[in-house]
Amino acid sequence: MNFKIILLASCLVLSQAVITAGPVKEVKSKGKAPKNIILMIGDGMGTAQLYAGITALRDNTNIERCPVSGFVKTLSADDYITDSAAGATAYATGYKTNNGYLSVTPDGIAKETILEMAEKKGLSTGMVTTCAITHATPAAFVSHVNSRGSYEDIAAQFLKTDIDVFIGGGWSHFTKRADGRNLADSLLKHNYVVARTMDEVMNAGSGKLAGLLADEHPARFSAGRGDMLPKSTAKALEILSANKKGFFLMVEGSQIDWGGHGNDLNYVVEEVVDFDHAIGKAIDFAAKDGETLVIITADHETGGMAITGGDMKQGKVEARFTYGDHSAVMVPLFAFGPGAEKFSGLQDNTDVFKKCVELQHLNSK
Ligand code: MG
Ligand code: ZN
Repeated sequence: MNFKIILLASCLVLSQAVITAGPVKEVKSKGKAPKNIILMIGDGMGTAQLYAGITALRDNTNIERCPVSGFVKTLSADDYITDSAAGATAYATGYKTNNGYLSVTPDGIAKETILEMAEKKGLSTGMVTTCAITHATPAAFVSHVNSRGSYEDIAAQFLKTDIDVFIGGGWSHFTKRADGRNLADSLLKHNYVVARTMDEVMNAGSGKLAGLLADEHPARFSAGRGDMLPKSTAKALEILSANKKGFFLMVEGSQIDWGGHGNDLNYVVEEVVDFDHAIGKAIDFAAKDGETLVIITADHETGGMAITGGDMKQGKVEARFTYGDHSAVMVPLFAFGPGAEKFSGLQDNTDVFKKCVELQHLNSK
């Protein structure tokens, strides 16, 4: 099954493609530990997906502002080809697990996540995604289950954390539950503002914020989601940066993966471009702040995508997909800010967790 699609970027998402600053390539505060970490995961974003986005943006991307790059090996405990649950578990806990498992080992032992460790140290924490907030990638940072499809259980586990901000979809997993509980009410009792629209998200004050913007998943970029991801990223940074001790924020470009599964180049490109706009918000913040490490990577590649032609000046790209699932190929990583240099070279996905924990001193007493 070899698809070939030609894409003209001009008909896409470029109306909002305002890159906010020129290249800032120096690593700020070199040698110092980062106070804040922003981990950005492009689900299914291999080098081909990324380069398609770079081409659509006519070689003017935020990700290129990162001075450090590397590669990540993604295999899971039980499979040469990881899924998003095991992939996110590696980033969240530093442990390899089986596909489908979330922050438990293959024998079912729960492992503390970097988000939980950050909370314990008094840091603020947050997550922003373009899928249901209960979906595998974000779920690995707050829940411990051996089946990624246990969405209602995962939603309930949000209440066991002290997460300050989460924005994505998944309203139905909090409110239309088999056990009859209404977790939106529980969130209110835990002093969250519960937002159902982007306006409500942007108008939220400085306290805790739960943005549940779709019953299930927010729409794809071109079907009405718009700039929810970059805006939500900026809002989360505004809330989290109030904590002088620092913060940990995970941002996911969730639907790059779905474009790959669908062998849909337009879908891949619009989601990568949107993700790059969110990367811009993170790097703008980090460049100004000087104490924030931004890491941009992926959990795996999706679609076995290859770029078979294009034109950088016209923002035009052609691609073929080799099939409709994840592939085993290593994925790219980019880093900006203090500690960025630790992430160059080839590393395991579990190493990313270990480096973050060390840099943010999350293991120290
Ligand atoms: Mg995901
Ligand atoms: Zn996938």
